[in-house]
Formats: sequence, structure tokens, C-alpha cells
Amino acid sequence: MKKNRVSNPEVKKINRNQIYRYVNKYEKVSKPDIASTLGISMPTVLQNIKELTERGLICEVGAFESTGGRKARVIAPIYDARYAIGIDITQNHVGFVLTDLSGSVLMHTREYKPFTNERKYFMNLGELAIKFLTSANIPEDRFLGFGISIPGIVSSENAKITFSHALGITDVPYTVFSQNIPNHCIFTNDANAAIIAEMYSIQERYTTVYLSLSNSVGGAIFMEKSNGLKGNQVIDNLYFGDNCRSGEFGHMTLIPGDRKCYCGKVGCVDAYCSAKILAKLTDGKLERFFKELADGNEEFTRIWEDYLSNLIIVVNNLRMAFDCQVIIGGYVGSFIEPYISHLHEKAALLNTFENNAIYIKPCRYKIEASALGAALRHIEGFISTI
Ligand SMILES: [Zn+2]
Repeated sequence: MKKNRVSNPEVKKINRNQIYRYVNKYEKVSKPDIASTLGISMPTVLQNIKELTERGLICEVGAFESTGGRKARVIAPIYDARYAIGIDITQNHVGFVLTDLSGSVLMHTREYKPFTNERKYFMNLGELAIKFLTSANIPEDRFLGFGISIPGIVSSENAKITFSHALGITDVPYTVFSQNIPNHCIFTNDANAAIIAEMYSIQERYTTVYLSLSNSVGGAIFMEKSNGLKGNQVIDNLYFGDNCRSGEFGHMTLIPGDRKCYCGKVGCVDAYCSAKILAKLTDGKLERFFKELADGNEEFTRIWEDYLSNLIIVVNNLRMAFDCQVIIGGYVGSFIEPYISHLHEKAALLNTFENNAIYIKPCRYKIEASALGAALRHIEGFISTI
């Protein structure tokens, strides 16, 4: 009777993929280390190292210090084996990020380019994408494609942007945005893209809620399902909801019957926690608001305290609903780090179950998180095929 052993191509692929992800994640590893950590036999490790080396994805880079016996060779990833570019489209700007298999930001630019739903805009978008790709100067066969981040509801099922208040569009097919871009494009909602970037950069992933405080308030929900080494992509762990409208925290009601929200309802979180609430005091320049706040501007200090008093209600509600860490991201998130202890103190007062609020974390990516996350869809897609 024949036994169904490692000849099974699926098992071979899972082993190869796990080994590659391990090398990619820890950067410098030895063959015995791979075998013992992943519980894979040494002959299988050696066979896969050979295959991955032949495919130009990993290489040997010297030896570890000897611990008595023969020195173990150092196996390292070849990060520049593949590249992807992320494009972040917002109401007034377009941001570009170049990344590779390391998932780090290698190059980025941001241009002032107000969105218009016109042929001219999309032609220009294509020109800018090609210009950025050319300036990246990467081999054509190593380029995976463009990831595009959109501030709106992105329906992958229907391949269209169902709705975007920021861009003022409804039911626009992906192809309208990608018509002048020569490479494969993947579309992602901006907050989902940002949480992909955040989750990609950490060693251990936990269930996380991302609260995006930009010119509108949104968010994303990452549900941890594995230890991150099992081959699933970040996108597989995002919760989208029945209509791709999960994480729309901006339209939870904060103060009934009070301020009007752009959505037409009254009292939504967006009317109190959008970055515009602060930026409008400094002609739309949020950086200037935080500069003057740091310099002790009394009026701004009072407004900031009011802002935080509203923000802690939202964050505490998220904690009560999801019982996980909450990352503060978006435009305000990129300035929150110096105020995080103060935010912890204030939010702790509302916390029913703990006497602290250290579950609130500042975002890691201060710039271009959404562009990076959009590009990482390609990188993760490629890695899953290894
Ligand atoms: Zn609203």
C-alpha cells in the first residue's frame, strides 16, 4: 500500500511558503533554526533552501559565530527580488510609495492634485504613476504592479468604488482609475490599507482596531486568526461587514442632536473628531496647529482638551466593543505620540474593566500608511504564491 507522504504538492508548497516567510520575517536565520522552529525535517529544509535560492528569493550571507561545532551559514532574504508601488488618492493630493519584499518605504513623494472625476485627472494620474515608476529605476521583471488606496467604499466583488464622500463619486469602476496605468492595479479602502501597513510591520499580530482621524473619520478591523506564519495575508484577516462598510466609526452617534455631520445626520463622531476640527484653526494646516499647541497656545490647548474628551468616548466604546488594542491613525494619529500618555490618563477614567488605557497605541506610520498598505497587497499576493 502506498503511503501519502511529503510528495503531496500541497504539503511541499506549505513548507516552502513557511520557510520563506520565516526567513523574510527574521532576516538572518540558520538552517537548524528553521528546522527546529517550524518543526520541518532537515532534508526538507535543505531542499527548500536550494529551491528558494535558485528562484533568487534568498541567499547565504556568511556564517554565524560558532557555538562549538561547525559554524551555521546565515540565510537571508533577497528583498529586492520584487517591488510594488502604492498610490494614495485623496481629495487634494496623490501620494506614491515604493516598497519591496521587506515591506518598508524605500521612496515616496506626495503631490498637490485636487481630485476631479474627469478624463484629464485620470490621464494625469497615469502620467504621474509612470513617472514615479521610471524614477524608481527597477528591473521590469521584478515589478508586481500598483496598489491604489481610495478614501471610500471599495467593492472588490463589483470592481468599483461604491461611494466616496471625499472624492464626491458614486459607483465608479476601478477601470476608470486604472485606464492610463499600464500595470496590474489592486484597489483598497484607505483605512484598510493603513491597517495592512501597520500589521505587516510587526512581528506578532493581535486583533486590532484602527481609528483613522483624517479629514473624515474612518477605521478598519483586523481579527487575528493565526500566528502569521501559516500563509494567510493581512487582507484575509480584515473584517469587511455585509456591505464593505465595516469600521465606519465616523458615523457612530457621539452626541445626539448636536453638530451636523457631512453625511446629513446629526451628532456623528466625524463632526467632533475629524482632523478638520483642528486644522480649520490654522488655515487647513494641521502641522501648524500642533506646532502652536506644543508652543503653549492657550486657545488651542483648550480646543485640544475638548477634542480629546470626545475622542476618549469613541476609543473607549471601541475597547468595550472589541476588547483589543486601538491604533490612533490618520492625520491626527501622525501627531498623537507626544500626547499619548495624556490620552491614556483621560481614557482610563472611562474604562470599566481596567484602571488604565494602554490599549491605545499611536500609529507606526506617520506618512503614507495607506499608499504603503495598498502596495503591500501585491507583495503579500506574491509571497502567498511562493
Ligand atoms: Zn455622519
